[in-house]
Amino acid sequence: MSEQARRAGVVVVGGGLAGAMAAAHLARAGVPGIVFEQSLQPQPAVCGEFLSFEGAALVREIGADLPQEAHAIDTVAVHGPRHTLISRLPEGNLGVSRMRLDEALRLRAGQLGAVIHRGVTVHRLTPLDDSGTLVQTSGGDWQADAVIVATGKRDLRGVTARARTHEVVGVQLHVSVAPQVRVRMHSRVSLWVGEGAYGGVALVDDTTLNVSCVITPQAARTHGLCAADLMPALMQSHPAAARVLAEIVWPAVKMMAVAPVPYGYVRPVPPGAGLWCAGDQLAVIPSLTGDGMTMALASGRKAAMAIVEGWSAGPAVSRSRNVDARGLRGDRLRPAAERYHTDMVQACGRQVRVAVRLQQLFARPRVLDPMLRLGAWLPPVVPLLVRATRVPRALRAPAAPAACRVA
Ligand SMILES: Cc1cc2nc3c(=O)[nH]c(=O)nc-3n(C[C@H](O)[C@H](O)[C@H](O)COP(=O)(O)OP(=O)(O)OC[C@H]3O[C@@H](n4cnc5c(N)ncnc54)[C@H](O)[C@@H]3O)c2cc1C
Repeated sequence: MSEQARRAGVVVVGGGLAGAMAAAHLARAGVPGIVFEQSLQPQPAVCGEFLSFEGAALVREIGADLPQEAHAIDTVAVHGPRHTLISRLPEGNLGVSRMRLDEALRLRAGQLGAVIHRGVTVHRLTPLDDSGTLVQTSGGDWQADAVIVATGKRDLRGVTARARTHEVVGVQLHVSVAPQVRVRMHSRVSLWVGEGAYGGVALVDDTTLNVSCVITPQAARTHGLCAADLMPALMQSHPAAARVLAEIVWPAVKMMAVAPVPYGYVRPVPPGAGLWCAGDQLAVIPSLTGDGMTMALASGRKAAMAIVEGWSAGPAVSRSRNVDARGLRGDRLRPAAERYHTDMVQACGRQVRVAVRLQQLFARPRVLDPMLRLGAWLPPVVPLLVRATRVPRALRAPAAPAACRVA
């Protein structure tokens, strides 16, 4: 370890949704936390930008401002090759720009007292003998009592790498759309399903449409990532995409892409002593559910709360008389980290498994299509599936008392 390693209470690696939410909760409880975020400026993210009402409630709970431009969504339309099923969603979902949302959460975490270092990349985590973790960053070394790993889809050295599942590529673009398209997209999220690909669109403000798709690496290689080439090619090979994306003018710009996306991954064992994984580092739910952001927010919150509990609990039984206060804290936090991991895997495992099954069905549009037609006669099917792929109640923000609820 470098002589100059500075001491930190909790280090949060990654200032995305999970990291910023964790930092905000730590700061609110008075636990010293430092966030390292590699980006210097707000960045767009490869994301469908559909935020569930449960996710929006978690953002509000911490006192962060949801972007005013966000677009209210109360309907989902699922398009198969021939049939479309339209269903109401619970109120309070939003189409929201990630660039704005992530920044709003970081701002709130900072207001509450979290220290956020922008433009600093964490290179490696190493467990230390005398409890704690060495955090090696582009801005120097730190020694932390606990580390929350919230690096999203990026694996970090020192944290057991996630097993690769099937390889898919996520692509995303913001496109300005004409009034007739806006009318069609108003207050709804539309999903299209095709052989080997699916995608979703939703307005994220009055004029901007988020277009995101999950495609095969082969499709990305064949058509490239330029929207003017890729999107018309997808529309040509997938009738559902052609219906949903009609009348959109595709700019000749490169779409943002992320690969591989380990859909269905749930981290089987804790990541290492003193480490807490949140967001996509903990579990990656298929995008078609639109619940990845909420899982990230909920797990960041839960990790922070568990750390706060271990931080302030009474003195633990020390292993030796020479163990100092930090050692005692480390003794308490280690089993707490394992408990957190087990609880989260149990809480989110089921929703991820259901979502994976649903994704398998989406991959077979010819089977799905008649079901969409049938679904029109069995209206509760969609609400049931939506409920089954949402974070469990125990991980949500407590409901505001009726008198305080904002209409
Ligand atoms: C195609 C697609 C569509 C999706 N659509 C939706 C949707 O509509 N609704 C929904 O709820 N979810 C959706 N998701 C899922 C959602 O985007 C993710 O689940 C969510 O972003 C995870 O948040 P996170 O905080 O774990 O990671 P991220 O949001 O990726 O944040 C990670 C942060 O860590 C930083 N970082 C990474 N490595 C380091 C490092 N070494 N040092 C310092 N900083 C680092 C990054 O810069 C980033 O800011 C979609 C995903 C994909 C791929």
